Amino acid sequence: MLHLTASITLAAALAPDLASANDELSIEPSRPQTWDMDLDALQAIGLGQSRGVPVPAREPPGFVAPIEPQRAEAAVVFVNFEAITLQQGFDDSHNDVSEILGGDFAAYGGDASARAAVMEAVRIDWAPYNVLFVDTRPDGGDYTMNVTSPTNPYGGGVLGIAPLDCFNMMSKNNITFAFHGANDGFPPAVQATTIGQEVAHSFGLEHVDEPGDIMNPYNSGGDPAFLDECLPVVMGGVCGSQHEPNCGSQFSQNSHQDLLDLFGPSQPDTQAPTVQIVAPGNGAMYPVGAEFEITVMADDDNAVQVVDLYRGDAKLQTDAVAPYGWNVTDIPEGTYEFSVQATDLAGNIAMSNVVTVYVGVEMPSDDSGSADGGSADGGSADGTAGEGGTDDPGENGGGDEGCGCNQRGAAPSVAALALLSLLARRRRRRVSPRV
Ligand SMILES: [Zn+2]
Repeated sequence: MLHLTASITLAAALAPDLASANDELSIEPSRPQTWDMDLDALQAIGLGQSRGVPVPAREPPGFVAPIEPQRAEAAVVFVNFEAITLQQGFDDSHNDVSEILGGDFAAYGGDASARAAVMEAVRIDWAPYNVLFVDTRPDGGDYTMNVTSPTNPYGGGVLGIAPLDCFNMMSKNNITFAFHGANDGFPPAVQATTIGQEVAHSFGLEHVDEPGDIMNPYNSGGDPAFLDECLPVVMGGVCGSQHEPNCGSQFSQNSHQDLLDLFGPSQPDTQAPTVQIVAPGNGAMYPVGAEFEITVMADDDNAVQVVDLYRGDAKLQTDAVAPYGWNVTDIPEGTYEFSVQATDLAGNIAMSNVVTVYVGVEMPSDDSGSADGGSADGGSADGTAGEGGTDDPGENGGGDEGCGCNQRGAAPSVAALALLSLLARRRRRRVSPRV
């Protein structure tokens, strides 16, 4: 019998219970004068809704302005889709402190593919720049955090809000807001526009009067980009000295060039991640039915996207959220060769060490042969796997047996479980002659 345990942290569906919106905020920009459509009709389809006027970033205590403006310096942006509680204070993404909003924000919702579609759209918009967008909180270092949540303290007319941090100077750990959820009807490209605009405010970009530019304050649908064009700044010029070198005016902004100045062009990522199984140790022995944890350390110069657990050459489970690992429960008798593959955002892959675990069986007496024996077995395993399709009921009566390798924090997929029990069968065929 297969028993699975998962320590699932359920993101509670938090009610929109915001502490307080900043009273000083001016979040309703004046309406453009060119509209001839009924505003309600526009808003019914999500058009014409505005993205809030950014709030000039506050100078934190002890702040010393950099001597030189930021030039061609890589940055990381963490897009948070989880439920989150923010305190109010000077922006500090590491500690969930925002200078704009405090309170509880509900999770984005939807499934992994909904979030992935938004992330893909965001990454396309930002592809020209050396800015890395991740949806897993970085372990350390500076990062801007965008809270992506349907909890909207301003009501439906405002899609986002952010601090305006000229030259990205006050803080490299700002918090920005995009009031979107998986079920709000906005396509990924529009949600990505909101996220991109709010994040860009925290880098000193202001609103421009051009619907094709991500920095346009009014949602006009489509799929705007950061345009390589000097455009009039709307209600702004706050960060005029940032825009002036590219446009010759404090009231004109080239969004694309401003971002290139700050971060430089995107750099191709050719560096593979590092990955290691740190527990259990190679050669560990357990009784049948034991519980243990497979603990993985994975790192990358940018970000690890996913780690996959393998038994032999067959993939068992996937974990996309750090810390990486799996809980194993009720493991049947057998010899298990576990390894882990890590993939970074650019698709570079790396394989971990192979850890052989003995469950209810003796470690082969020829100790020196055990490591090599694994790979030697690997050859025969392929042969056996070919025969594996012809099921042997005598040997595989326990078809429900398997390694309950459970990704921590998520339920296993049915497909993975089917694979698990299949693998257990194959393994038994292969191992039993030796036991
Ligand atoms: Zn805005």
